[in-house]
Amino acid sequence: LEAVHARLEAELVAPGRAVWLEAPAAADEDLLRVHVSAHVTRLAALDRAGGGWLDADTSMGPGSLEAARRAAGAAVLAAGRALRGEGPSFCAVRPPGHHATPGRAMGFCLLNNAAVAAAAALDRLGARRVLVVDWDVHHGNGTADAFRSEPRVHYVSIHQWPHYPGTGLADDTGCGNLFHVPRAPGLPRATYVHDLLAAVDRAVDGFAPDLVIHSAGFDALRGDPLGAFTLEPEDFATFAREVRARAPRAAVMSVLEGGYDPPRLAEAAARHAAALAE
Ligand code: ZN
Repeated sequence: LEAVHARLEAELVAPGRAVWLEAPAAADEDLLRVHVSAHVTRLAALDRAGGGWLDADTSMGPGSLEAARRAAGAAVLAAGRALRGEGPSFCAVRPPGHHATPGRAMGFCLLNNAAVAAAAALDRLGARRVLVVDWDVHHGNGTADAFRSEPRVHYVSIHQWPHYPGTGLADDTGCGNLFHVPRAPGLPRATYVHDLLAAVDRAVDGFAPDLVIHSAGFDALRGDPLGAFTLEPEDFATFAREVRARAPRAAVMSVLEGGYDPPRLAEAAARHAAALAE
């Protein structure tokens, strides 16, 4: 986050192309559209105990729950701004969200920021259809699970296969609303870009979204310690532009998921956010 914030400040905020907004904590009402109450209660109990482990790679410390609530709240704020015509937002937040299922935390994710925003958009912010485009190198199993029987959400994910969390096969299509693109590591970067956009083409065929949510995972960069895709920073600007070209009437927002090489993450996030702001 420090790397991302510094780069966004220098390239977008200081030149007057963007402003910072404080992330508000998400309301329980918004969280509970996606998460079961037992999950939120469990996080609150662990927070009161000072933290602890939720699974083999997901822990909470003091402040984690507030950070997670503010990450989800940022996504809801971004959805509202986008749908009110106030422009696109990039949510530079952690923890990430797309592995958090309705009932459990996993894969560094406590609350599913993108899913909470999508559900709020549909329920109270005026959206009729939402497209989530997830280009994190890992499958967003939590987002898929949250919406697999919700035809008002189309979910597109390209992800390394086989890889964590082991889900996201192409034949897992939900109610016809999941567009999974599992791909081998080490392919030419143009293949990943092409195949993701081809899936977006299928997802918007007969489905004009009011809101596009980028689930923005920069661990798809070449050299990321947690993935073996081969993308370069400019590709994340391409995603912003090419998805906009495919859903030209949709409001747009983007929420940070993964990305574990801080200098590369920061450069790619800045390219992506600048393209969103064009
Ligand atoms: Zn990831």
